[in-house]
Amino acid sequence: MFDELRRQLPATIMRENELMQYHTSFNIGGPADLMVLPRSVEEIKCVVTYCHNNAIPLLVIGRGSNLLVRDKGIRGIVMKLGSNFQEFLLQGDQIQAQAGISMYDLTRNAAAASLQGLEFAEGIPGSLGGAVVMNAGAYGGEMSEVVIEVEAIDETGEIRLFKADELNYSYRRSIFQDNSTYVLTARMQLVPGDMDEIHVRMQEYAQKRAEKQPLEMPSAGSTFRRPEGYFVGPMIEELGMKGYPYGRAQISPKHAGFIVNRGGACAEDVLALIAIVQKRVREKYGIDLQPEVRVVGEE
Ligand SMILES: Cc1cc2nc3c(=O)[nH]c(=O)nc-3n(C[C@H](O)[C@H](O)[C@H](O)COP(=O)(O)OP(=O)(O)OC[C@H]3O[C@@H](n4cnc5c(N)ncnc54)[C@H](O)[C@@H]3O)c2cc1C
Repeated sequence: MFDELRRQLPATIMRENELMQYHTSFNIGGPADLMVLPRSVEEIKCVVTYCHNNAIPLLVIGRGSNLLVRDKGIRGIVMKLGSNFQEFLLQGDQIQAQAGISMYDLTRNAAAASLQGLEFAEGIPGSLGGAVVMNAGAYGGEMSEVVIEVEAIDETGEIRLFKADELNYSYRRSIFQDNSTYVLTARMQLVPGDMDEIHVRMQEYAQKRAEKQPLEMPSAGSTFRRPEGYFVGPMIEELGMKGYPYGRAQISPKHAGFIVNRGGACAEDVLALIAIVQKRVREKYGIDLQPEVRVVGEE
């Protein structure tokens, strides 16, 4: 399998049966048939068209901080956009950056240029690509407020430019969750500000996270989408489920909105816990909680 792709990209790193637990913040996930780490847009194009022409499923990932990969792993190809795609360009009040840059570096680069607007993203442990796709947000801000243009590649290898009004942004949603199109770069419009004040805001957010979130345990952030008018953590807490374990997974004793891996958890543990919470919340509140975490892989 994949011989043709290896012939096309002889120098590209490709790993067969790569365990996804090494590529997710949950430290969970079975083997991907093939993981590819491209080094250029040309290589991305090659992988995308190879998958399209051969009807091979393709999953593009960033830092795996919003992913729950099932234990049987992922059939097809996983393409990880990481350290080879971290270019960052400052143009006046705008920043254009590649999908693989971490939100950690991006927020620091923006602050160093005295540009405000990205402070909310301090502590979001993903890549820019993942944040654009998930419309990541926190503390009253979200990506939709700053992203003005996205360059993406579709499954036929064509590079397309999406303007802000074409991104279909809503709460933790974007067009890229449905259109088999992969984010290459994003342009963000920021606002000149005071560097010290920007740093102070970032420090405040970092401190709030450290106080409230189980950052010391592997997780994928908030497990569930927030239903309008409710907060998931307090709802689960009211059910008496804070700290509730299942296998090696557990509802975080620190923040009930997070499921954490106590070490050695499998996806089945987390999925069972998700189902138990969904059932109990439905019974008590009549609300259908939906996972925010993207569940992928063979069932
Ligand atoms: C401790 C912790 C705290 C968190 N706090 C927050 C928070 O405050 N707010 C928040 O919104 N999220 C939060 N998250 C979740 C997560 O960090 C974000 O959703 C983040 O934006 C995901 O980025 P990623 O690069 O890790 O994406 P991944 O997890 O790798 O992927 C997420 C989804 O995006 C797709 N994707 C990734 N890159 C691309 C690309 N280049 N092109 C097309 N599709 C792509 C993947 O296929 C997948 O469907 C938190 C997670 C953790 C572990």
